[in-house]
Amino acid sequence: MSLTYRELLEETKAQIEEVDALMAQRMIAAGARAIDVREPDEVEQGALPGAAHIPRGFLEFRIEDAVPDRDQPIVLYCAGGARSAFAAKSLRDLGYRNVVSLAGGFGAWKGAGLPWTVPQKYTAEQRRRYSRHFLLSEVGEEGQRKLLDAKVLLIGAGGLGSPAGLYLAAAGVGTLGVVDDDVVDDSNLQRQILHSTDRIGLPKVESARLTIEALNPDVTVVGHETRLWKENVLEIFRDYDVVLDGTDNFASRYLINDACVLLDIPNVHGSIFRFEGQASVFHASQGPCYRCLFPDPPPPDLAPNCAEAGVLGVLPGVIGLLQATEVIKLILGIGAPLIGRLLTYDALDASFRELRLHKDPDCPMCGRFAPTSLDEIEYTDAACAIPALALA
Ligand SMILES: [Zn+2]
Repeated sequence: MSLTYRELLEETKAQIEEVDALMAQRMIAAGARAIDVREPDEVEQGALPGAAHIPRGFLEFRIEDAVPDRDQPIVLYCAGGARSAFAAKSLRDLGYRNVVSLAGGFGAWKGAGLPWTVPQKYTAEQRRRYSRHFLLSEVGEEGQRKLLDAKVLLIGAGGLGSPAGLYLAAAGVGTLGVVDDDVVDDSNLQRQILHSTDRIGLPKVESARLTIEALNPDVTVVGHETRLWKENVLEIFRDYDVVLDGTDNFASRYLINDACVLLDIPNVHGSIFRFEGQASVFHASQGPCYRCLFPDPPPPDLAPNCAEAGVLGVLPGVIGLLQATEVIKLILGIGAPLIGRLLTYDALDASFRELRLHKDPDCPMCGRFAPTSLDEIEYTDAACAIPALALA
């Protein structure tokens, strides 16, 4: 016996649970996942805030990645409530136990006067460029929008800033600030992959801009061709969401830490020495800062000189990409950041180690007597920063 469409829809609706718009809103507020099963051109006209978008045709195929937990409550919706009813039946058959369909769909939601948003549109080029991100439910169109809206400051367009900058640009981080007052030198090219032989003598900020904008025209490079001083650091940092520390000297490292603590900006730290490197995320409102570990810089005569120390050319690639990965996780709000953890890498052993870091209640920068400005803090000049813990 065959059914008409109308009969099939009625039969399906009898087997699933439907809710009205107000009930759907309550469920979503209580943690239910809203999933929009309409086609992309419909979603572009407007959608529920925070809804995941999985077109009906891909639902069975992608739902296990998007919602691995079959007990997770789900609110499905389409334009009028028919496609989401069939979708609810299908998810029920896949073992999802708490699935409802929004009766009347997005039309009923709007009719009830509930909030909705118009997702910003992507161009056809952007859809192709970021297609692999769109396929990840943890990123998706909404996550990609966060990346495009994000402002990340790279301190140094050198060994660490180069790989990090390239990958952040490729990933579509929309604004990349670059602080560097140096020019490209032929001894940089063994590891600083933003630059090239024909750019020797060019300011690194300019060379970084050329490389990054050629890779991804969505990215705006903001050049800061200066050294960081306590007189300019807050002004420069203030506009950014995340700072990536790719410096190689102690003076800058402390200054960057202190400015990030004062402005409550996460500081994604990396350092390299010979065959070893380390990475962490210092975010004083959520964990330790750099001074919780090392309250004061070592005297300059005890700090080795980077130019003499040497570094394996590929090593900053590994550490810089760990930093870039942390930056992207912070922007997207996914995964477990390296806050309170120091990851060390030994290239010769091919081994990673993790050290737990603790917040020091008496830390001179984020502890109970912390300063509220940089005015009273003294910063000594230069001196190469060796990763003290990695050597310990
Ligand atoms: Zn601290």
